[in-house]
Amino acid sequence: MRLVSFGEGGSRVGVVARDGTISEVTDLVSGRDSGLGAMRRVIQSFADIEDGLHAREIAGGGSSLSLLTLSAPVSDPTKIVAAPVNYLDHMEEMQQLGHIDSLGVFLKAPSSLIGHGGTVLLPYSNRRFDQEGELCLVIGKLARNVKVEEAEEYIFGYSVLLDITMRGGEDRSTRKSFDTFTPMGPWIATSDEVGPVEELELRCWVNGDLRQHAHISDLIWGVPELVAYVSSVMTLYPGDIISTGTPKGVGSLGDGDEIVAEISQIGRLSVSVSTVGASFSVTRGGAAGILQQSHEGPG
Ligand code: MN
Repeated sequence: MRLVSFGEGGSRVGVVARDGTISEVTDLVSGRDSGLGAMRRVIQSFADIEDGLHAREIAGGGSSLSLLTLSAPVSDPTKIVAAPVNYLDHMEEMQQLGHIDSLGVFLKAPSSLIGHGGTVLLPYSNRRFDQEGELCLVIGKLARNVKVEEAEEYIFGYSVLLDITMRGGEDRSTRKSFDTFTPMGPWIATSDEVGPVEELELRCWVNGDLRQHAHISDLIWGVPELVAYVSSVMTLYPGDIISTGTPKGVGSLGDGDEIVAEISQIGRLSVSVSTVGASFSVTRGGAAGILQQSHEGPG
């Protein structure tokens, strides 16, 4: 099953029906856990409403996807946890000395989320910003100290995520948390629909040029290991997002660029890039990383 969020702040949810239209399912979660965004209510009450969701999936007759303004599938996760260096080829291209087993994970601000079809706003004109195409997963139930072999039970589904990044020496939580820096979507594909994640492939294009192509089986810490590790550090709630890291092929972004990231069995996410309103960087970004504004990135 594929589930989308749309409407003001992701206040409405829908299922991608067999006829390709979006059948709204917001009414199935009205009145439930009203402090939570609509998709978190769907995830929280999935066992109760699954039959109703399937009925809408079969019935169809909804809106055309192209007529909806999609939000990130989960608009209000309590956190977005991300893996810093989780492919060996990306470690080499960034000239990093260590990877995830020495770095652990980091957090991105949930306020940086945007949906499929949105626009990434680059805040500064004198800094380099890169695309990072990634597989992400959405937590399905409260998770604390999950064992690797039980991790799958805690995963609701998967989506495509772009971890947009400013290069430089600032903390990752700064460089990756600007508003609009976490495009996600177009939907959540539930775990049963995706099948074994080790068999998935990720591709990412900028302006039609293929910059990244990787097999998810090349992750240093696979999906179960990430769920186990992250849940040993912090309690995970339904709707929380874990992004698994990016492979080789990151490169700089500029005004008017079109980014497309696709993962087999899941879907294709596309966003555009704008420098409207960009100013000079407040921080200097010294000490580490690539500072210059450059369009000479790989690919
Ligand atoms: Mn990343």
